[in-house]
Amino acid sequence: MNKIKDSIAQYLKDKTLLKYFLYAVYIVITTGFLFSLMSNPSIRNFFSVIENKTFDVRQSLLAPYKRVNKDIVILSVDEESYEYLLGKYGEWPISRNIYADIITYLEKQHPAAIAFDLMFVKSLKSSNDADNKLAKNIAKYDNVFTSINFDNQSFDLRKPVDLPEALKANIRNESNVNIKNDMLTFSNCRAIIDAILYTTPNIGHINLVRGEDGIARDLPPFVVYKDNYYPHLALKVALKYLEQKENLKIKDFKIDKYGNLLIGERTIPLTINGSAIINWYGPSGINSHNTFEYIPMWKAEKNIYEGTKLIPENYFKDKIVYIGTSATSLFDLKSVPTDRIFPGVEIHTTFVNNILDNNFIKRVPLWTDVLISLLLSLFVGLLVIRSESTVISSLAAILTGTIYAIAATAIMFWFNIWVGIIIQLASILLVFIACYLAKYILKSRDLEYTYALATTDGLTELYNHRYFQEQMLQNIETGKRYNKPFSLIMIDIDFFKKFNDTYGHQSGDAVLRQVAQILKKNVRSTDIVCRYGGEEMSIILTNTNNQDAITTAQKICNAVSEHPLKIVNGNEVKVTISLGVSTYPQDGMTPQEMIKYADDCLYAAKENGRNQVGNLAK
Ligand code: GH3
Ligand code: MG
Ligand code: MG
Repeated sequence: MNKIKDSIAQYLKDKTLLKYFLYAVYIVITTGFLFSLMSNPSIRNFFSVIENKTFDVRQSLLAPYKRVNKDIVILSVDEESYEYLLGKYGEWPISRNIYADIITYLEKQHPAAIAFDLMFVKSLKSSNDADNKLAKNIAKYDNVFTSINFDNQSFDLRKPVDLPEALKANIRNESNVNIKNDMLTFSNCRAIIDAILYTTPNIGHINLVRGEDGIARDLPPFVVYKDNYYPHLALKVALKYLEQKENLKIKDFKIDKYGNLLIGERTIPLTINGSAIINWYGPSGINSHNTFEYIPMWKAEKNIYEGTKLIPENYFKDKIVYIGTSATSLFDLKSVPTDRIFPGVEIHTTFVNNILDNNFIKRVPLWTDVLISLLLSLFVGLLVIRSESTVISSLAAILTGTIYAIAATAIMFWFNIWVGIIIQLASILLVFIACYLAKYILKSRDLEYTYALATTDGLTELYNHRYFQEQMLQNIETGKRYNKPFSLIMIDIDFFKKFNDTYGHQSGDAVLRQVAQILKKNVRSTDIVCRYGGEEMSIILTNTNNQDAITTAQKICNAVSEHPLKIVNGNEVKVTISLGVSTYPQDGMTPQEMIKYADDCLYAAKENGRNQVGNLAK
């Protein structure tokens, strides 16, 4: 048993083996963590929820530094316009006549596209004449777009309509992106008035998908209805713009094998669920200098009906004009990663802008995150294993995590790539803790071993002389304080010089070891058996008076003399010992005095014929 313990201790002392052990800890911890991450969906989901938050933080940090495309403007029913129009016409929604006139007004300036982020649904209030006028105007220009919305209303409430062929999109999908999933497949449709639905192909959906936390981070370029694909309004509007500006014409869509929706030279990277992750702009949606230009609707209305020139001449030329509502009393609030409330219309213009600037965010696949985690945690693990200083390795680990988080943010800014942060930081932390603990445990074991080495005699495995002296002082201290006696036995093997001469030094050593074991066996566990030097041994008997010490000494003397001892040639021999006893405080008040007294007794034993416990005739 002692042998095994010894060799383990020897192993741990070996620095390279210690390192291998720490490497093993590192490998078990990281692979265990990353494997559970990849194989367990609920663990993965837990981390992805937090990862989404890191995306939001990065986006809100970066948004103010991104510039919007000035070719996109929002003609919006803001709070003032809502007040003004409601006051003037006495109803909401306003007559579709006005929207028809807005088209005429805008078209005179030749905009690139006009997009209504408004749904012209069948309504009791709307007049047929106005509806028809609007429908005619929409159909008249091929750059006017309007919206439709898909949902999952019950069939009892509303019968799903059949949509015209012209609205469908054909997609050649060479990737494993699955658009026909539960999130993007809808069973019903809030259709718009027939007069528009069947007269123009320029209708796109305005469906929004939100994360579990209600935050809109991505938009679906397509949704599925009755097994057909329907493109997003923003996608259609952007394509119209590119058709005019760059002569790009896309009839059928293609998703390449990497999951990128191809728009000419541009790509829209899709998530496995068919969504495009939006890159967000600007600090504030309304009245902000570096986000989209907002033109309030009341100015356009006054321009059209009163000739008041509140909007510069030809302001809308070549621009994409998105018409929607931004008044807080009209739109439903939408939370976006930049932590501000967006009007729906601005989410859609952001989508258009992302297409034009080709700057959608691409989320790297899980294996990339896992690889980065492995590298980072390997670095931190090595740091902890190799560095002698806890302070330095802790600081370095914190620094590594921080630099990585900053780098990940920079990568998002410069390359529009979303590399994970959370599993990387988690693995750094895990490896740091695991390696640190392992190292700490090993170190403390190392210390124990070193201490044992410093207090033990190599040949007999008894305590050494130094430890003996320490313990003598200690026991005298304790004896003094508690007024308790303790005793010392000095032992010397008889005729040992002769023994060595007869059987050889190796047999002498063997005998020393065996005598040591006999001594240990015959005292209490609290007693301290030491090798005093040469073939002399000493035993400190804690809390023991003189009478009991002499009894013990006698017992030991008998035990040794009776015990056959093995020597190197396999034969068995016997040796005897002489002993001397002294007791604190009666025989001495210092270690020297006590040793002297016991030695004198021992000498007396020798004089008296050996193999006995000696005493001084007092
Ligand atoms: P006695 O004590 O009975 O008077 O006779 P002795 O021959 O034992 O005399 P002494 O105590 O002076 O002898 C000490 C001898 O013990 C000297 C040396 O040969 C032997 N010895 C001391 N240390 C060791 C050791 O580590 N191994 C071996 N084999 N012998 C040792
Ligand atoms: Mg001796
Ligand atoms: Mg001797």
